[in-house]
Amino acid sequence: MYRFYFSIFKRKFSNLSFHHPRTDTCKTCDLLNIKIKANPNDKESKRKLDLHHRQAEKAMNTMKEDHCLSQLPLSGTCSISIDLQQVLSLPALTHGQMFYLRQLSCYNFGIHVGDTNKGLMHLWHEGITGRGGNEIASCVLKTLLSGFTKKQKLVVWSDNCVGQNKNKMLLFLWIYLVTKGYFQEINQEVLMSGHSILSCDRDFAHIEKRKRVEKCEVPFDLVRLIATATPNNPFTVTLMQAEDFFDFKAAADLTLNTTRTKISTAKWIQVSADNPKQVKIRETLNEMEAWKNINVFKKNVTEQSIRDMVVPQLNCQNQIKENKKPDLRAVLPF
Ligand SMILES: [Zn+2]
Repeated sequence: MYRFYFSIFKRKFSNLSFHHPRTDTCKTCDLLNIKIKANPNDKESKRKLDLHHRQAEKAMNTMKEDHCLSQLPLSGTCSISIDLQQVLSLPALTHGQMFYLRQLSCYNFGIHVGDTNKGLMHLWHEGITGRGGNEIASCVLKTLLSGFTKKQKLVVWSDNCVGQNKNKMLLFLWIYLVTKGYFQEINQEVLMSGHSILSCDRDFAHIEKRKRVEKCEVPFDLVRLIATATPNNPFTVTLMQAEDFFDFKAAADLTLNTTRTKISTAKWIQVSADNPKQVKIRETLNEMEAWKNINVFKKNVTEQSIRDMVVPQLNCQNQIKENKKPDLRAVLPF
């Protein structure tokens, strides 16, 4: 049958063909591509697009290099990449009625450790809490405090998503960790959005692939699926409980003034134990760019007060909307 369609398609529609879907584009690419299409002689746009692609590639290569360097026996740097996987919906039933029912959203936050090439997964669902900056920072804290590295320097790679992976909640966490003496220096570096294939995204691809063949009904099925998705180098799965989540936003609002850091456009953020109140910012990943030094502590806040601070627990709210509940009850028999 396939051959039949194939031959018809080739013979009768020779003007059509299949392209590989382009996944690595962003707003900038699309805009420049349209300009070039409208005016093929637009040299300026061509030059900009070329530079843009080279910058994206350079960022990816720098991340790979960081991962490789951190694997050297004498390396004092731990390199990780962090991201939230696309929502995993449960249950994965296929009968017709499922099409009209809303499902339970499960969240998986991944940390890929470059040093050991290990994927660490953190799983929870919307009945526990949502998926904002507080939740992300809490997962990172839980893993970093589990003592998986003794190294003094940490490099964190993330994408550009301000709501989740790059914000004052994470900045507070970095400052908190250096004042507490867990690290001497922490760098957060950002890949270009639309072009970022973080090492943790590759881990997610394995999980997605597995999810297509293995059906999951309840969150615990997901744990099993993730834990067995890559048998040769299995992921570690942590089930996040309500008490694991902390209110980093409250802590940051109380102590930091980050307006001058312009976190949304920063590409490289560095905090160091030598002077935790001074945050260093670069707008590119270029090592030649001069750091912008910004004092982020509010008046009366000292290193000591951050060190002694107890970050409050997050007041976890069940995020399941009222109108979704009957749908979830309807799938209970399954
Ligand atoms: Zn682009």
